[in-house]
Amino acid sequence: MKHYSIVLIPGDGIGPEITEAVKRVLAAAGANIEWIERKAGVAAIADGDDVLPESTLEAVRQHKIALKGPCTTPVGKGFQSVNVQLRKSLDLYAAVRPVRSLPGVKTRFENVDLVIIRENTEGLYSGAENVLTPGTVVSMKVATEHACTRIARWAFRYANQRGREKVTAFHKANIMKLTDGLFIKCAQDINRVEYPNIPYQEVIIDAGCMKLVQDPSQFDVLVLENLYGDVVSDLCAGLVGGLGVVPGANIGESEAIFEAVHGSAPDIAGKGVANPLALLMSSVMMLNYIADTQGDEGARTVADKIKRSYNQALEDGCKTRDLGGDLGTEAFADALIERL
Ligand code: NAD
Repeated sequence: MKHYSIVLIPGDGIGPEITEAVKRVLAAAGANIEWIERKAGVAAIADGDDVLPESTLEAVRQHKIALKGPCTTPVGKGFQSVNVQLRKSLDLYAAVRPVRSLPGVKTRFENVDLVIIRENTEGLYSGAENVLTPGTVVSMKVATEHACTRIARWAFRYANQRGREKVTAFHKANIMKLTDGLFIKCAQDINRVEYPNIPYQEVIIDAGCMKLVQDPSQFDVLVLENLYGDVVSDLCAGLVGGLGVVPGANIGESEAIFEAVHGSAPDIAGKGVANPLALLMSSVMMLNYIADTQGDEGARTVADKIKRSYNQALEDGCKTRDLGGDLGTEAFADALIERL
């Protein structure tokens, strides 16, 4: 593969441990990457910097691609989420999260193969929260035709390019008639005008969640507004072995940040037991994105090699604790490197 400079944000909690492991696997697989390391989150604050330093944002703007560990966000008080800031500042409007069964990881279902496309810039993440009167607060759910249309277009284009069977929008337009109503109207329009070849379906989200846990094979590509996409991503992670195995990408018109769905896992941080696979799978998505956008098939070859190594390792029973195994973060990375 050609040479690339890519921003690496280790993040907080388990972030530094899993990014170290992922860096080692990528190097062993022959990924020709120079890492431009930048801080964000609690790690940046500890350095006396802003939670999202301008230098980090600038580096992503310059290099266009970043691999990111999770960042901690305080609950109920404190600074705005680094993730929300990053996604909004760079307009990374499409979160893409493939959820697939893995060999050797036994769960209730086999052959789960879903892709979640989450709108990443508005909805209840608008940050518009106000105190109306003491004891009464409101949070504004924002939907714009612009954002609803482009995420719908993104989902249908993805389904079309990848030969997927159908697109399903999860919504609550029976209650939120304006916001969710606009979301599904835009999806209907894109389906009718631009992708009439892709079957499209709408499901009210509560029933959709029940259907997902009863039989996920009913669905293929899911398109959701911001909060629903967040919640349903974790639900779907539970179908295939948990948060340790679900990767993700945040994609905009010119930049892309690849990160796992999971958070900074403070309960296991520093113990050397976190599963680095979700971040490694995110780096595989990153290599495939490079192949698709730069026409560099060498990057795809490295991605395939890494994928084969983790599939083989899992089949051989090499697993971290979250998947019922006994390997630590580094020992699991070693097992992959052996197979490379
Ligand atoms: P979490 O995803 O960090 O953890 C949920 C559970 O999953 C925990 O029991 C954790 O140990 C386990 N887990 C997560 N990743 C794992 C891994 N790689 N290997 C093994 N087990 C793993 O969710 P949370 O506890 O709700 O959030 C913790 C912090 O992370 C919060 O501050 C939250 O805001 C932040 N967060 C950040 C991101 C991000 O940066 N993209 C995403 C979600 C949450």
